[in-house]
Amino acid sequence: MSVVELRARGNAAGSYVRPQGSDSYPPAVGVSVGWVLAQPVQDLLDQGRALKWRNLGTIGNLAHLQKHGDHTAHSAGKVRGVVYAKDTELPGGGADAVLWLCRQRDYDTSYIDFFNVDGAQYNYAGVKKRSSSDQHLHVSIRRGAELLRVTLFDDVAAVLAGTYGSAKGAPEAFHRLGFVDGAILVQQDGSRQVWLAGRGKRTLLANNTELTAVRQFLRQRGANDRITSVLTLTSVVV
Ligand SMILES: [Zn+2]
Repeated sequence: MSVVELRARGNAAGSYVRPQGSDSYPPAVGVSVGWVLAQPVQDLLDQGRALKWRNLGTIGNLAHLQKHGDHTAHSAGKVRGVVYAKDTELPGGGADAVLWLCRQRDYDTSYIDFFNVDGAQYNYAGVKKRSSSDQHLHVSIRRGAELLRVTLFDDVAAVLAGTYGSAKGAPEAFHRLGFVDGAILVQQDGSRQVWLAGRGKRTLLANNTELTAVRQFLRQRGANDRITSVLTLTSVVV
């Protein structure tokens, strides 16, 4: 049933003919197989596209189609007609961010069957299982998670930007700064301008309305909302 639902959602789809030289796993050579992307694969494809992370493939090439892995729609042990895998070239630090997320107790990656990156294979929880020939990120989705919506790549991007988990509902100034935790308000002696600052960066608060919103947000988080007076401002303006 998931195939019908996934097609109704408009996920990427197509068909192929089991090629000459295929292994003995069904279907036989010459049989046509329709495919549609599992929802997590489609979501990662869409997010990767928006983030401009190079997609290295979902439905596989000839060599994949001759075997029966997750880059086919006849993967062993999975639903016929559904593609469960995607290959992606991650930006710098991306592999570490994926592993970090998988190891967070409150971040659910149980829809992942396994993933390969930087020459190793990991389970959904980021536990290394064996070596792999893949350097790029290969994600395989677990059977049963075909219809699930996921946000993994958006979350990896947030981890890389320093905004993960803490920027929800934050005033725009925190997004300009690129993080929330540890941000403080500073003002140079003799100046009326107030900056949100930290980690070597600062961003100017446009007016009292923005200042009020930032202070309120900091208070809500139990963070210090006092304005610290400084003699000189040395951080980079963002
Ligand atoms: Zn792959």
